[in-house]
Amino acid sequence: MKVVVIGSGIVGASTAYHLARKGIEVVVVDKAHQGQASAAGAGIVCPWITSVEDPDWFSIARNGALYYPQLISALQNDREENLGYSVVGAMAVSKNDEELDAIESRILERKDEIPEVGEVTRLTASEAKQLFPPLSKDLKAVHITGGARVDGRSLRDAMQRAASKHGVTRYSGEAKLVVVEQKVTGVEIDGEVIVADKVIVTAGAWSKELLAPFGVEIPIEPQRGQIIHFQLPNVDTSEWPVILPQNSYYMLAFDDSRVVVGATRENGTGFDYRFTAVGVKDVIEAALELAPDLAESTLHEMRIGFRPMGPDILPLLGTIPDLEGLIISTGLGASGITMGPYVGVLAGEIALENEIEIDLTPYHPLRATQKV
Ligand SMILES: Cc1cc2nc3c(=O)[nH]c(=O)nc-3n(C[C@H](O)[C@H](O)[C@H](O)COP(=O)(O)OP(=O)(O)OC[C@H]3O[C@@H](n4cnc5c(N)ncnc54)[C@H](O)[C@@H]3O)c2cc1C
Repeated sequence: MKVVVIGSGIVGASTAYHLARKGIEVVVVDKAHQGQASAAGAGIVCPWITSVEDPDWFSIARNGALYYPQLISALQNDREENLGYSVVGAMAVSKNDEELDAIESRILERKDEIPEVGEVTRLTASEAKQLFPPLSKDLKAVHITGGARVDGRSLRDAMQRAASKHGVTRYSGEAKLVVVEQKVTGVEIDGEVIVADKVIVTAGAWSKELLAPFGVEIPIEPQRGQIIHFQLPNVDTSEWPVILPQNSYYMLAFDDSRVVVGATRENGTGFDYRFTAVGVKDVIEAALELAPDLAESTLHEMRIGFRPMGPDILPLLGTIPDLEGLIISTGLGASGITMGPYVGVLAGEIALENEIEIDLTPYHPLRATQKV
């Protein structure tokens, strides 16, 4: 069997790596668009402190988080280093005790079902600040030991390198589908055709335009995220936990004295790759409100990514009736670093026509446009 994977963000890289480890012949085509979501993603892997109540979201996000240790160990066996993954814990923060009470009870209620959440502890503002020194002195916390973070770029690159070690071939450029009598028979890149038994679309926010010429309408839109990296020279930030306040912003740290604060969630921008005055202002304001001591940090880097947003918060994953040989795997929205590696594995298994361990019905790619 030969499989082409279109796109090499976190989903495509995982799909290719997984299939190649199973001995499947894999070709990856990636255009490396500006704004690839996986290159901009903050990297929080912590689905347990969430107010999202959709059980189908929670189940796939949780499986995503649980898959990480397995993936990291496979990559280490393939002699990959610097994966940027660490279980550093996470803190839901607030000034308001009642808000924290509600979060704590929500986690404790299902702790038996989700032991991976780890220890759950209430922290005073000064205890929270000890764990994340620039944090505002007014923020108290619910701390869980199971929260993790990963550097999306490092992980993507490691999966790509490891996939090559297992024989994956890679093309740079834009792939178009080759369709013969309602069957996808391969892809075309700059006039060259690559024939395949199965084609997996992991093209993120660009997936819609790839399928539109064949009358397949998947409801995927780019959501722009502007995100800022601060640096605290000579400060060891490697073990600082992920910070989750009660709004859409967040903060986390990496090994190289870097603190990342994100992000805007802008719908309707299309693929407009620009930092805007208001976007940058909003993120800096959120950063300084959460952590006033970042005021003198270095503005190290700003990134833009286009989250692939579907009709709801669930991925679009599976085959579609009108185009045989095609698997769609996108729409991971704001949770794609968490779910992406696991969803990549599922996409590969679907291509191999193996039994899938979860019920795919809620994730059907055409659920919003057709009865499924
Ligand atoms: C600012 C920001 C912060 C985020 N933070 C988090 C977080 O903390 N935790 C979390 O879980 N998630 C987070 N996310 C979400 C996560 O980053 C995305 O859901 C995930 O990276 C999507 O991965 P993907 O592989 O589907 O798409 P992408 O990473 O966008 O990759 C798609 C790839 O397909 C290629 N492509 C497209 N069309 C073609 C074509 N025709 N031919 C060839 N190649 C093509 C593109 O060039 C691109 O390389 C964040 C996202 C953003 C933007």
